Amino acid sequence: MRIAMIGTGYVGLVSGACFSDFGHDVVCVDKDASKIDALHRGIMPIFEPGLDELVARNVRAGRLAFTTDLAEGVKGADAVFIAVGTPSRRGDGHADLSYVFAAAAEIAGAIDRATVVVTKSTVPVGTGDEVERIIRETAPEAEAWVVSNPEFLREGAAIEDFKRPDRIVVGAEDPRAAEMMREIYRPLYLNKAPLLVTSRRTAELIKYAANAFLATKITFINEIADLCEEVGADVQDVSRGIGLDGRIGAKFLHAGPGYGGSCFPKDTLALLKTAEDAAAPLRIVEAVVKVNDARKRAMGRKIIKALGDDARGKTVALLGLTFKPNTDDMRDAPSISIVQSLEDAGIKVRGYDPEGMEQARGLMPNVELCASPYEAAAGADAVALVTEWDALRALDLRRLAATMAGDVLVDLRNVYPPEEVAAAGLKWSGVGRGGRL
Ligand code: NAD
Repeated sequence: MRIAMIGTGYVGLVSGACFSDFGHDVVCVDKDASKIDALHRGIMPIFEPGLDELVARNVRAGRLAFTTDLAEGVKGADAVFIAVGTPSRRGDGHADLSYVFAAAAEIAGAIDRATVVVTKSTVPVGTGDEVERIIRETAPEAEAWVVSNPEFLREGAAIEDFKRPDRIVVGAEDPRAAEMMREIYRPLYLNKAPLLVTSRRTAELIKYAANAFLATKITFINEIADLCEEVGADVQDVSRGIGLDGRIGAKFLHAGPGYGGSCFPKDTLALLKTAEDAAAPLRIVEAVVKVNDARKRAMGRKIIKALGDDARGKTVALLGLTFKPNTDDMRDAPSISIVQSLEDAGIKVRGYDPEGMEQARGLMPNVELCASPYEAAAGADAVALVTEWDALRALDLRRLAATMAGDVLVDLRNVYPPEEVAAAGLKWSGVGRGGRL
């Protein structure tokens, strides 16, 4: 199959590279020339484990190419995937669909045969109908079927997720389009990945419902963590105690600083807007969004409290700035709100992240970014672990303590046993471990 991937970001580049690895012939298109130039030089525009090797292998095999020219990329394609961004629209939180609609119009003008146009971007219910309308209006003679195929990969584990997904969802209104999608994904469901064919609107909603449910699970355990702190219980044991119940499941039950990233915050907001417009309010998701927003700044206050009286003028080192490990993505990372609340309280912030510092630089201009966790901790009154990168999970706490001016370790990911922290001469503060305080 010949595939064109429009948008070569976290989703488009990983999906395109994986499709080519299955033997399809793939052209990845992006209008950002710097990304395409970098890819031509073998440099990945994003950090994703294993991606450079996967891309290099398929470029060498002649199955994967990159261009800024959409018409050239789409020429001869059996399927054109739209994987452009759908950020929150400024002001009202609706998904901004302008990139999707612009891509649809360009695709309509470029397709030269019966083509499946597949929306892989996360888009609100009904977007497929609009994409279809745009294609019909732009190129009435074009033969195109519009399909929804939401993506569920996680940054940091994207290749494995794409190649071994829990499920593939295809929303198609035409059986021939569904058959083409089966063909494209055949190498995957031979791996036993269930392929679920639904109506287009249903597929669009599945993606939002999945993300909202996961965001709810995280927020639920975060509120339970707050309760644990008040009543002397340990949230890690509560998580284990409920997660072993097969109906609940252990994943997404780790208390922390609140969810962030490029998907959950914007997708929960967009789902609320869809629900509001449909006069079918989702009150649970409304509460999740409010609770999570408040939590990020509350984590800043937790650090300030741990510093004791008169925090103003003190220095805090934040370790791990990206919204989760193994990505350089800083979009809506909780660290951004934490930095803001610390700076609002007159605290000087230093920071370290294994991969996210380049993106962090523009988002937290007053933070002094350091070359290592120990350098960030040097002279700090408190150190806070914000993101649990592997490289930050086994720090030499005595070395850390020796370089600090103060003696506070705030562990927002509950990585370090309080006894070890105390043995290193540091005062410990964690999340939801009331029995341990
Ligand atoms: P991204 O910002 O990393 O990449 C989008 C790319 O599209 C950019 O490089 C941009 O230059 C390009 N683009 C925009 N308009 C274009 C056009 N007309 N022609 C060619 N290129 C164009 O975004 P992302 O994180 O890959 O997300 C893409 C979509 O996938 C979003 O809808 C997102 O919600 C969804 N999604 C993301 C993830 C994730 O983990 N990042 C997971 C699942 C779904």
